[in-house]
Amino acid sequence: MGVLNNRFQDNVFFTSADRIINWSRKSSLWPETFGIACCAIEMISAGCARYDLDRFGVVFRPSPRQSDVMIVAGTVTKKMAPIVRRLYDQMPEPRYVIAMGTCAISGGVYNTYAVVQGVERIIPVDIHVAGCPPRPEALLHGFVMLQEKITGTRVLRAEKPSDEAVLS
Ligand code: SF4
Repeated sequence: MGVLNNRFQDNVFFTSADRIINWSRKSSLWPETFGIACCAIEMISAGCARYDLDRFGVVFRPSPRQSDVMIVAGTVTKKMAPIVRRLYDQMPEPRYVIAMGTCAISGGVYNTYAVVQGVERIIPVDIHVAGCPPRPEALLHGFVMLQEKITGTRVLRAEKPSDEAVLS
């Protein structure tokens, strides 16, 4: 809420339209139904009844064309990397990526020729959720961090008004 109420964050001016657009984006994050390895089990758990991601507006979608979040949950092998990239390319803008688990972040224990040493080498990552595997609470925290990031994004190119205009 603090960010929502603050019109000036890091000297950036947020218009009412910015705040409404950001609020609607952060309240309807739709991840792809997509898991690669053991971290995906924790991701599935986060979506089930006990942790209930739906209450944050996080609803899994079966197609990248309907999704705006990719959760890279697991080890990205070099064989799988082009498919991950293609799924990312099929998502509409604005799109966000959460790297879930040590394997997705850095390759983890698999320092081998067959594993991409961090998914950031093939797609841009917004949020890193550390752990092997991270618990569902950690993924929940990752979504909250992503919501904060979206809230702090200026959508429209508005100029910062003068101090007199703000006070009047
Ligand atoms: S970080 Fe751990 S739990 Fe997650 S995919 Fe890698 S080995 Fe599996």
